[in-house]
Amino acid sequence: MSIERVDAVVVGAGFTGLSAAQELSRAGRSFVVLEARDRVGGRVEARANGLGEAIDTGGQFLCEDMPELMALVQARGKTLVEAHVDGEFITQPPLPGDEAERTYLGAMAIRERMNGIEPHDPAIAGMTVAAWLERQVDPADAKAGFRSMIEGLWCQALEKIPLWHLIDNDRRITNEQSELQYFLAETMQSLADDLARDLGGRLRLNSAVMGIEHAPGGVRVVAGGRVFEARSVLVAVPPMMASKLVFSPPLPDRLSRALGVWHSGVVIKILVRYARAFWRDRGLSGMVMWRSLPGLFACDVSKDEVHPALVVFIGGPLALRWGGLDDAALRTEVMSRLVAAIGPEAGEVLDFSFRSWIDDAWSGGAYSDLILDVHATDAEDVLLAGAPPVHFASSELSPSFPGYIEGAIVAGRIGGRKVLADLQETT
Ligand SMILES: Cc1cc2nc3c(=O)[nH]c(=O)nc-3n(C[C@H](O)[C@H](O)[C@H](O)COP(=O)(O)OP(=O)(O)OC[C@H]3O[C@@H](n4cnc5c(N)ncnc54)[C@H](O)[C@@H]3O)c2cc1C
Repeated sequence: MSIERVDAVVVGAGFTGLSAAQELSRAGRSFVVLEARDRVGGRVEARANGLGEAIDTGGQFLCEDMPELMALVQARGKTLVEAHVDGEFITQPPLPGDEAERTYLGAMAIRERMNGIEPHDPAIAGMTVAAWLERQVDPADAKAGFRSMIEGLWCQALEKIPLWHLIDNDRRITNEQSELQYFLAETMQSLADDLARDLGGRLRLNSAVMGIEHAPGGVRVVAGGRVFEARSVLVAVPPMMASKLVFSPPLPDRLSRALGVWHSGVVIKILVRYARAFWRDRGLSGMVMWRSLPGLFACDVSKDEVHPALVVFIGGPLALRWGGLDDAALRTEVMSRLVAAIGPEAGEVLDFSFRSWIDDAWSGGAYSDLILDVHATDAEDVLLAGAPPVHFASSELSPSFPGYIEGAIVAGRIGGRKVLADLQETT
């Protein structure tokens, strides 16, 4: 096999890897981006629905409190679509208006109280979110609302999530606007495609990296039938996927332990296309939260008047339960819930498309990986330190908006700068 020599290798062409590549490119360094799939974007993905329309089957939403992503959207001339939120928000089983509001505020109060705790307070050492919730004296409805909110957003059972980790993570998600404020008419994947276009031949698709070897003066990486030698490598994949790479010689124990404590969330994303946004005629926003099925949530993602649609997310333990169903049974479960919530017209669909991210070959799952070892309080810092010239970056490791596209951009830039620092040292 012939050897290609470059300054740096970036493993993974999600928003983290693409953003790191931008940094390297700006600095005039030679590099390749090795991507396992036949496309870029990673957990941002667009597919055609049954009507031939491109739909976001992965990361989609953004809001004006996410500065890096908003700037990129603007720089690339994308069209922001404001999500429709006017109208009544439905809870299932139904609650009278003021009680629904009270339950929501109760759930938010629990979240704020949780975030007021210092993540490294010894009093919560070893405690899961579920164990902490159990000790709270809030009304049962507020606690159920909190569970639904957290399991829907982090896609893991509260029984598994360390309390310190959720607090530490949630404190970095600082948006005041709803995170569902906007999406892109052209799809979020189109933004990743734009970034990929800038890379030209430096992007290598269908190039899965299985291992990274130390070599004189840097690393050797084999992918897509080629060998790359570089002075530095950025592993821009989710921590759980990084834990599957074989390092030779092995990574220091601390680092391989730190990689091993992350687990992917589980989510199924569904897009239901309608002929009319019938819910709006009835004063409904299209937003539904199922109190009895934590992790199930729907909202309006109509791109315009002629593309009325609802998106339904199934996250956490419910995704694991329904993920085991065949396609027809999954559709029945979801459609029966939508009909019960917003009426019989919800059953008259033009298209029902879904994407399961459970055990995804190259993402592991979604929306993000979480640390599920209550004692692994240093795992993130250890990963961020890496083992130069091997560095790690992914949305999960971002100082702002971990688990979001915004976080991936920030993490990618930081990772890119670490690689550049290595290169400067060895020049
Ligand atoms: C269904 C769903 C909905 C979401 N909704 C939103 C949303 O609305 N808003 C939001 O901000 N975020 C959302 N997210 C989260 C967001 O998409 C991710 O946080 C972000 O895209 C992660 O980017 P990343 O580059 O860190 O990781 P990834 O996107 O996972 O990129 C890693 C890349 O590495 C590649 N790779 C993995 N292993 C290897 C290997 N061994 N060799 C080579 N390549 C490899 C993968 O194929 C992938 O392309 C959603 C995610 C999902 C799945």
